[in-house]
Amino acid sequence: MSTQAVLDARALLGSLTPLKTDCGRLCEGACCKGDETTGMLLFPGEAELFKDCSFAKVIPAGYALGGEDAQLLVCSGACDREQRPLACRLFPLYLKFLKSGRTKVKMDPRAHAVCPLTDYGTEALDAAFVDAVRAAYDRLLEDERCAAFLKALDAEFSL
Ligand code: SF4
Ligand code: SF4
Repeated sequence: MSTQAVLDARALLGSLTPLKTDCGRLCEGACCKGDETTGMLLFPGEAELFKDCSFAKVIPAGYALGGEDAQLLVCSGACDREQRPLACRLFPLYLKFLKSGRTKVKMDPRAHAVCPLTDYGTEALDAAFVDAVRAAYDRLLEDERCAAFLKALDAEFSL
């Protein structure tokens, strides 16, 4: 069920990216330059989509989120775009849980050290991308495990 939510979120994002042009040219693809131990957090149910992945491997994150052991996808720095994880597709946005109980899509403060787009706010991004990220998060919130993961992620990493 969570895997289906991830697949639906992927589909909602389609081929949209933060800018209409290739933002990787601004930073030489900074968000794809990890190492053997850094990776992108996988959503609940997402790891099974990478069982036979040729460009990346799944490793334990070493901590829990939303009551489950978190997992990371560590890639080689290049990927099949159709297969890239949800975290790469949502970057540099994240979901903030407000005291009112509502949620808001915001620039991820953790992306600030890496992504030059974070200096300009969500208004500078392609509006279609921001809308699709909102729709993707709404789909993920319908799934209990993904909702717990997103809440825990916000609580753990809020500055
Ligand atoms: S770091 Fe930001 S600007 Fe660079 S490729 Fe990633 S999303 Fe685009
Ligand atoms: S999976 Fe692809 S998009 Fe994500 S960090 Fe690796 S190379 Fe970049």
